[in-house]
Amino acid sequence: MVERQVRVRFAPSPTGDLHVGNIRTALFDWAYARHTGGTFIFRIEDTDTTRVTDEYIAAAIDTLRWLGLQWDEGPEVGGAYGPYRQSQRLNIYSDWAQKFLDQKDAYYCFCTAEELEARREAQRAANVAPGYDGQCRNLSEDHIAAFRAEGRKPVIRMRMPDGQTTFVDQIRGEVSFDHKFVPDFVLVRGDGSPLYTLAVAVDDVMMKVTHVLRGEDLLSSTPRQIRVYQAMGLKDEDFPTFAHLPFVMGQDNAKLSKRNGEVSIAWYREMGFLPEAICNYLALLGWSPGEDRENVTMKELTELFTVERVHSSPAKFDMKKLEAINGDKIRALNLEDFLTWSLPFLKNAKVISGSEEEIALVKAALPIIQERITKLGEIPAMLKFLFVKDFAVDPESVAKVSDVASKAVLTRSLEELIPLSEWTHSSIESALRSSLIEEMGLKPRVAFGSVRIAVTGSTISPPLFESMELLGKSACLERISSALAL
Ligand code: GLU
Repeated sequence: MVERQVRVRFAPSPTGDLHVGNIRTALFDWAYARHTGGTFIFRIEDTDTTRVTDEYIAAAIDTLRWLGLQWDEGPEVGGAYGPYRQSQRLNIYSDWAQKFLDQKDAYYCFCTAEELEARREAQRAANVAPGYDGQCRNLSEDHIAAFRAEGRKPVIRMRMPDGQTTFVDQIRGEVSFDHKFVPDFVLVRGDGSPLYTLAVAVDDVMMKVTHVLRGEDLLSSTPRQIRVYQAMGLKDEDFPTFAHLPFVMGQDNAKLSKRNGEVSIAWYREMGFLPEAICNYLALLGWSPGEDRENVTMKELTELFTVERVHSSPAKFDMKKLEAINGDKIRALNLEDFLTWSLPFLKNAKVISGSEEEIALVKAALPIIQERITKLGEIPAMLKFLFVKDFAVDPESVAKVSDVASKAVLTRSLEELIPLSEWTHSSIESALRSSLIEEMGLKPRVAFGSVRIAVTGSTISPPLFESMELLGKSACLERISSALAL
């Protein structure tokens, strides 16, 4: 085969927010295009206009951009083979369907839904493989005229010849489909609208797609697509190369769904996963960079990505691993970037309104939490204590600071902290250590736990002494005093 300039497409039908499986496909398509110096095409398959809405399309565009998967051709970018929304290409599909009818590769089928169902029922009863039985394959002109006179609206069906379709899948090797199990299929509905199989194949040819990397769920549609290529006059050597990516499973080994894992990328974004972490993790779902590595940057992914390294067995989604990778990526951020990522979370949670003063305090506080979080969404709860106007200890923690032992700790802390002339985390730490741990003989967890609740209101907070330094002396003293009154 002549080497072709790689053109690979991501072609979702957004009937909701893009999910983990879609994005894993998009990522592999993108990485393959970048690795080979080819073209990454983004095409919207919206022939099912009832389910694919403008809102979902806009969200899909936004998600891909957020993830950094820039496309070279597609919506908002254009390209020589556009438009890239199938709903704007309907004439192209009907012209081809007409050509297939003229060539006798396709035919009008007048069977009604009820008739088809009744015959399917009979097939089931007779234990015959279900599917269209070819009833309208060879209708005479008179027959066709009679059906039309009855007011029946025909669909256009592709004629599947006897035999089989065999192709080499880059991941699965040679795959064969016996046409006994690939009955004549519908290309165009009765209302004239095209079906997926027609539109996808026509577009792949018209857009000169060389590689189709997509989910394994579409493997069984491949012989139908190949049939359309053939009817379009494409030679075998010009067919796109197929590579069907393994399924993504949940921990329970069932296909990943809402039930056994979060599927929508919008959810991960809301929780505070970084795009680079999502891409890094999804890259490992079915592909490996080798050498047991788990951390890959986008740049490394484009350098290392080859289809040979994609496994054929299903990949298992592991939230813990994704969180660990996200934590790594957060720790790798420089302070300015970490600040930029954090501010929207703090604003959305109404912890800050965004004044210069607040931002300066956030910036001072971020280094002390950078090691401790796995998601940006944890930041508001961690830093809230620095910004709240009406501070109060969390109701569930009140009991832990109002007992006699805690009171003793807090009283002693106050005595030590009031005269402290220098307010730094190390001066605070040494004052509290010498009084509470050495003198009183308390365990650090017990002693500092009470102080932590008193000044931050909760048992979960950044490192205590750094938090106290940031909060400032007067606020700390005030909070400890009020805790004593609980
Ligand atoms: N539009 C199809 C879907 O979202 C995918 C088309 C393809 O990749 O061939 O399931």
